[in-house]
Amino acid sequence: MKISINIDDSKCIGAPYKCNKCMQACPKVIFVAYPHNRQQGMICDKWCLEVPIEELCIGCRLCEKACPEGAIQVILA
Ligand code: SF4
Ligand code: SF4
Repeated sequence: MKISINIDDSKCIGAPYKCNKCMQACPKVIFVAYPHNRQQGMICDKWCLEVPIEELCIGCRLCEKACPEGAIQVILA
């Protein structure tokens, strides 16, 4: 089974400082937050999420259920 995690940055209200419900919910701790459009000397006000190693995902969908904005979609194929 192939698992993909789709994260809609436009819906996410801001990981990891404003919300990190998905990161807390994941039993495999596989979410990574990184600055969006990072520029030297600038304070980052927007962070994005990704799951860089989707092979570690067990497809439990706890992240999807935990997200208050519906920003995460777990696709099992
Ligand atoms: S489906 Fe489960 S294991 Fe996969 S990223 Fe979401 S919470 Fe983590
Ligand atoms: S739970 Fe949803 S809104 Fe909160 S950080 Fe994760 S993706 Fe963003």
